[in-house]
Formats: sequence, C-alpha cells, structure tokens
Amino acid sequence: MNHFAIVGAGPSGIFAAAELLERDSAARVDLFDKLPTPLGLVRYGVAPDHLKIKSVAQTLSAVLSDDRLQFFGNVELGRSLSLDQLLEGYEGVIVATGAPHSRQLNIPGEQLRGSLSASQIVSWYNGHPDATTVEEIAGARRVAVVGAGNVSLDVARVLLKGGAGLASTDIPTAVLDRLGAVDEVTIVVRRGVSDVKFSLAELLELEKLDDVELVVEPSNIVLDEAATQIYEQKRTVARIVDTFRSWAHAERPATNRRKVLRFKFNQSPIRIIGTDHVEALVLLAADEALSTLEVDTVVRSVGYAGDRLPGVPWDAQTLTIPSQRGLVAPRLCTTGWIKRGPSGVIGTNKACAVESVGELLADLTGREPTDRSSAREGLLDRLRSSSDELVDLDGWQRIDAAESARGASESRVRVKIVDRQELLKIGGIQSTNS
Ligand code: NAP
Repeated sequence: MNHFAIVGAGPSGIFAAAELLERDSAARVDLFDKLPTPLGLVRYGVAPDHLKIKSVAQTLSAVLSDDRLQFFGNVELGRSLSLDQLLEGYEGVIVATGAPHSRQLNIPGEQLRGSLSASQIVSWYNGHPDATTVEEIAGARRVAVVGAGNVSLDVARVLLKGGAGLASTDIPTAVLDRLGAVDEVTIVVRRGVSDVKFSLAELLELEKLDDVELVVEPSNIVLDEAATQIYEQKRTVARIVDTFRSWAHAERPATNRRKVLRFKFNQSPIRIIGTDHVEALVLLAADEALSTLEVDTVVRSVGYAGDRLPGVPWDAQTLTIPSQRGLVAPRLCTTGWIKRGPSGVIGTNKACAVESVGELLADLTGREPTDRSSAREGLLDRLRSSSDELVDLDGWQRIDAAESARGASESRVRVKIVDRQELLKIGGIQSTNS
C-alpha cells in the first residue's frame, strides 16, 4: 500500500488527492494544511458573492470524505514537520501550497498608508484567520485598482457593492460594517483593451451592479492595426472589446447612478503621491503623456506570488517550485499555482494535478518498495502529541456545521469563524478528548 503526503489542502492539493485515489485504489493520502480548515482558495480567495464558483466545495468535500484520505489541519511544513520527515514517511510527497501574496508594483510611494495589496483585501473580506483588518477601507472614497485580471474586478465589485450589497453572503460582519463608503473605482490597465485578462462573464456581471455607472472613454479603446488583427482572429477577445465598446459613449446618457467604475487603458502607474497617506496616482500613458489620478487608495492587483518552502527547491525568478511537468525530485512533485504560477480558473488545477500525479507515479514505478510505515506513524504520533492543536476531518466538519448554524440564525449562507483560536477550539482534536 502506497502512502502519499500532500502539503496544501486547497483545490490543487485535493484534485491531486482525487487523482491519486482514482489511479491507485490501494493508495492512502495524508493531506496537511497550515490552516485549521481545508479548501484554500475556495474558502479564502473566491469572492463572497461568487456562490456558483464556491459550489466546487461540494466536489472537493466529497474527496475529503473518502476514507482512504486523512486531513491534518494546523500543520505547517517547516514548523510542524520537515520535507525530509515527509520523504522518510511517505512513498511520494506533493507540494500544493498555492500563491497567496500579491506581487509588488515597485514604484515610489507604495509604502504609503492607503496603498494596499489585493491579497490583503481579499484575505480580509474572506475572513482569513491570518488577515489583518484593512482599516483604511472604512475611509476610502476614490480607489485606483491596478491590473486587468479577474482579481481586480473582484476587488472593485466588492468595494462598490459595499456592506448592503453583500449582507447575505459569508463575508465577516466586521468587514460588512467597514465597507460601503467607496463611490469611485478606476481600474488602471497598462496595455490596451484587447490585452486584458478579465473573463467575459466577470465583466458582464458589472452591468448588474446597482447604482454604478460604467465609464470608458471611446478614444481610449481604439484598436491599432495589431489589436485589430487579434480582434478579428480571437472570438473571446472580440467579445471583451465589444463589451467595452458598448459601455463607451462620446456623450454619456444622464443617469442618477451615484457610483462610478471607470476603466483606463494604456496607462502605467509610475508613482504614488502623498505625505503619509495616498493622495494621487501618477500615470504614464503609452504616448508618454503624464497624468494624475486623484485617489485616496491604491490597490495593486498585478498577480500573485508563492512562498519559498523550507527544503523545497525554488526558482526566485518565477517564484515557483521548478519542476518537469510537476516532478521536482525523486518521489517529490508539485501542482497548482506554486508549480506553474498564478493562472487559470479553479478547474485548471485539475488538469495540472493529473499531469503532476502521472509524473509522480511514473517516477515511483520500478523503485524498490521500502517499508516507511514506522517513520510515518512516528511522525503522526509526534504531531498528535505536540502542543499545537490538530484539526482532523471531524474537526473541520464541526467548524463547518458551526458556521452554517450561525449563518442560518442570521439568514446568511454562513458566518465564517475568523479567529484561529476559536477555529482550533471547535475543530481541534484535543477538544474531543477533553
Ligand atoms: P492576472 O489574471 O494574471 O492579471 C494580472 C494583471 O496585472 C494583468 O492585467 C497584468 O498586465 C497586470 N500587471 C502585472 N504587472 C503589472 C504592473 N507592474 N503594472 C500594471 N499592471 C500589471 O492575475 P489575477 O487577477 O491576480 O488573477 C489570478 C488568476 O486567478 C487568474 O487566472 C484569474 O483568471 C483567476 N481568477 C479567476 C476568477 C474567476 O473566475 N471569477 C476570480 C479571480 C481570479 P499584463 O497582462 O500587461 O502583464
């Protein structure tokens, strides 16, 4: 019987577990996460109003319930156990720790108060136990969001919807109370309208925002020759460009909408101005013209980056684990964003896991079987008896039930437990023994 360890219980790690269990009926999987809860990005990255995307949690939960899999929450590689210990105790190890941090813009003024990262805001509005309160949001009125990806749209939409528009979701109550003052968001895009990374569905969703006027200058979305060719060849690009065209009017109809969501293309941010708080963002246009956007908040949403893990090879250029189709070293593989960088939708990680698991199983084929059971049992015993509280699948299910019950009492889908100690108190295995 082959025992596998997977580090990271987000969609990528769970898709890898599903693939292992599917391909090898005798396989056993121990799934570790540094958080007390599984589901990673589905719980802490997908926007609270994207219930349809969050419904993938059901598929992932079915994998977690497979009795050939054990979940160990609140276990961190490097703190609670080492890679060497995992390689000693398991036939194969898969690292699927994702990419949780926003990349920097590396421009002057980025350290000012009011200059925020998308990951800070997303973690906070999703109730991540390690997130700090983004106090600045309560005072934000005019916000620039830099970047043309779906995370920019999530942040803009959540800020413009405010507390009232999100009251029935699982967004933490303390966050709801602080949202609602933003009335102008400008999404700053460094390239042209045919180069954006927004998905069409996420763009069209903006049309449903109450009380929000969508603003695009017609002169800002004129296609040059190269962009026209892309427009003619790529249907997805054409639909996105047509959507922006439908929002652009030389003379905007007079509406009484109170809020504005503006898009600015071909503008690179070069400096954030302010004495101790953000006052403006300086933009350099493709034609070299400089302009100043008066804002009190700048959110950088220019892609995510992963963390280097102790003992695991690392590519400092790409901020990923270097691998050959997922295989990092003998018996060690990686999958998801920490393998290929932060791209694709949640489902993309399924194909990624299929590739990585295939490479890992191929690497194991023909190897001399080694009895690793005592090393594995010793490792798990040490984890169970350590001073750190462990959360197993039953514990996670208790947390899940407690959150759902709190949600039902407030007519909301769920009320997330944000405090790590409270999560451990409800979900920890010691709490069942006491
Ligand atoms: P992303 O899609 O890679 O977009 C990052 C954006 O930042 C790009 O427009 C990029 O422009 C821009 N950028 C990078 N460096 C910049 C700089 N120095 N100055 C200005 N702009 C800069 O990343 P993301 O939005 O973080 O999303 C990550 C992944 O999650 C994506 O695959 C996304 O589709 C997915 N996601 C999906 C959903 C959904 O399905 N609803 C929701 C959220 C996220 P260039 O193109 O010019 O490099």
